[in-house]
Amino acid sequence: MDFYGLTQEELRTWATGIGLPAFRANQLFTGLYRPDVMGFADIKGLPRDLIGRLANEFRLFPAEEHTRQESRDGTVKSLLRLQDGKLIECVSIPTSDRHTVCVSSQVGCAVGCTFCASGQNGVERDLTAGEIVYQILHHHRRRPVTNVVFMGSGEPLFNYANVLQAVRVLAEPEGLGMGRRRFTISTSGVPNRIRSLAQDEPQVTLALSIHAADDETRNRIVPLNRRWPLDDLMSAMDDYSTLVNRRMTLEYVLLADANMSPEHADRLALLARRYGAHINLIPFNPVTETPHIRPTTTQVDAFVARVTEAGGHCTVRGQRGADIDAACGQLKKKQIQATVDHHHE
Ligand code: SAH
Ligand code: SF4
Repeated sequence: MDFYGLTQEELRTWATGIGLPAFRANQLFTGLYRPDVMGFADIKGLPRDLIGRLANEFRLFPAEEHTRQESRDGTVKSLLRLQDGKLIECVSIPTSDRHTVCVSSQVGCAVGCTFCASGQNGVERDLTAGEIVYQILHHHRRRPVTNVVFMGSGEPLFNYANVLQAVRVLAEPEGLGMGRRRFTISTSGVPNRIRSLAQDEPQVTLALSIHAADDETRNRIVPLNRRWPLDDLMSAMDDYSTLVNRRMTLEYVLLADANMSPEHADRLALLARRYGAHINLIPFNPVTETPHIRPTTTQVDAFVARVTEAGGHCTVRGQRGADIDAACGQLKKKQIQATVDHHHE
């Protein structure tokens, strides 16, 4: 059992199930979220035989750091090796008042957007809640984590139960105590799960990876759109915004060859206005074996001007960690490539 996959209540249930008093479970739970505690033996006042039993029962750390890249701007990208040997990445992005960690929700991704490295080989498996929580703990020791974004590999809404469990665990007041509003779930657009999210976690921020506001363009770059076209997605977004009073974000990767015409800008602005959404523009980060072209600064500026003129509120996402392969999936891809090259030598 993953210790860090459990809520405090679940740990209490386990403890009372084996005849331990509830205060023990609380002592364990609060203890193991202290930054200096690395194991059960570090918790003061635990009976020795219980430490042995706990160590047999629970897995504490489901991953280890395989590679680490540090950017001059302070961004740290860690490639974690899970116990079955699979690799995932998580990125720590410190600013003056925040420490944001970008986490993965799956190994690989089934969606296969044409500009993304994570989806190039499909999905391998879902991450457990413990594996998701661990990514935050991994960077938490450096500095307390204030924000979590599900923007690493994987489609979080295809691993819905574990993603929500991780949010519940991280929000535990006697654990890390992170407020719900400090989480952003980014999705390529799974209509029924968007509706569920409005019911289950209305405080979490929703970011929609829209990338095009017409079916013809979106079909081409986000294959999921062929299964759930914009009409279906917008119907879910309508339901979501009826229930949830928070501003959602639209994410839009800027691909010079695919989605940057004046018409694309107009359609995007129209869609954003319908939901009062903020638009995050992300200039494409070149990924090997993807067919796209990174826009020039002039092209980005022209797109921003057009969106703004059409009444859309947008910002261009800063290039954090640009010197360390910042794009989603890039570090892993390079690592695997290096391994493959090594085998061929
Ligand atoms: N699967 C979810 C969350 C992970 S992807 C989703 O698609 O929303 C998180 C963000 O990274 C998405 O907005 C995606 O468009 C962006 N992204 C992926 N590859 C990129 C690239 N090569 N350059 C810039 N942004 C990229
Ligand atoms: Fe999957 Fe998101 Fe990458 Fe698309 S952008 S392939 S949905 S991880």
